[in-house]
Amino acid sequence: MAYDRALISRILRQMEQQRQQHEAEAEERRYRLTHTIPRLGEIDRELRATSAKAMRIAFESNNTDSAIAALRDRNLALQDEKRHILLENGYPADYLAVACDCPACRDTGYVESGLCDCVRRRAAAEQKKDLSSLLPVDRETFDTFRLDYYSTQPDSRSGISPREMAKFNYQKCSSFAETFGASYENLLLYGAAGLGKTFLSSCIARRVTERGFSVTYDTAISIFDQYNNAKFKSGDFSAASQALARFRNADLLIVDDLGTELPGAFHTSCLYDLLSRRLMARLPTILSTNLLPGELEGRYSAAIASRILGEFTQLRFIGDDIRKIRKKQRF
Ligand SMILES: [Zn+2]
Repeated sequence: MAYDRALISRILRQMEQQRQQHEAEAEERRYRLTHTIPRLGEIDRELRATSAKAMRIAFESNNTDSAIAALRDRNLALQDEKRHILLENGYPADYLAVACDCPACRDTGYVESGLCDCVRRRAAAEQKKDLSSLLPVDRETFDTFRLDYYSTQPDSRSGISPREMAKFNYQKCSSFAETFGASYENLLLYGAAGLGKTFLSSCIARRVTERGFSVTYDTAISIFDQYNNAKFKSGDFSAASQALARFRNADLLIVDDLGTELPGAFHTSCLYDLLSRRLMARLPTILSTNLLPGELEGRYSAAIASRILGEFTQLRFIGDDIRKIRKKQRF
């Protein structure tokens, strides 16, 4: 699972700050309490002394076991006494311990096998937040997809009804999201505007992000703009380079509205760069477009068309604009 390195280090920095604050707060509690209950200070001093003593014994003596055992008993008795004093005075038993959000890594972000799961969970949550601000469809998920917006009248050309087609597309997109990571596949969603392409690709984005993968979603126009800024060093150049790295390296890239940008050699070369890098690295991509597969070569190039037609599973969207149907139903 590839996480944005900048995101991971940001999270580790936040955890470090949090840890320092928790330590300072524990120290503050200890300081205050040992003033009112001096016995607590004595216990702390003796605990520190026993651990130093244990170290010395371990280094100097041959028969260490019994000495260490005696020290351990003394240690446990002191901690017990400390807990009792706290409880008697109306404090929780762990009142003087340093608080931590994740007991597994004690908020260090690392466990023996590497990054702690809590870091991954935070990264997934951050990515979900970032993604939500980009997605054009708000809150919709696979559960809210409505098949009844699609007609049951068979299409004159294919003999298949828009509803059957939509059901097939829905199942394909939902299994794509559920098996993402275990298999490798690219999708080409094509058909007229308003038939649910953006809806379904947003659902995929949300689900794949929830499952902990990095997902980047953007329109073709905006992706090409970032390429433009990065290449010609215009606009916010460093933001554009970061965006390009995301487009190229995200676990899943979704390009919406391909074909709505102005035609031109620069856009064709950007698309070629993006597709060939991602195909080479076997990183899945979803393209959503109003263009028909047969129009790709004329619009871009033979090389691009053959890559898309050869490496992408095609999902066709047919029917009447569901945004218009929805609007009609509202009145
Ligand atoms: Zn952790």
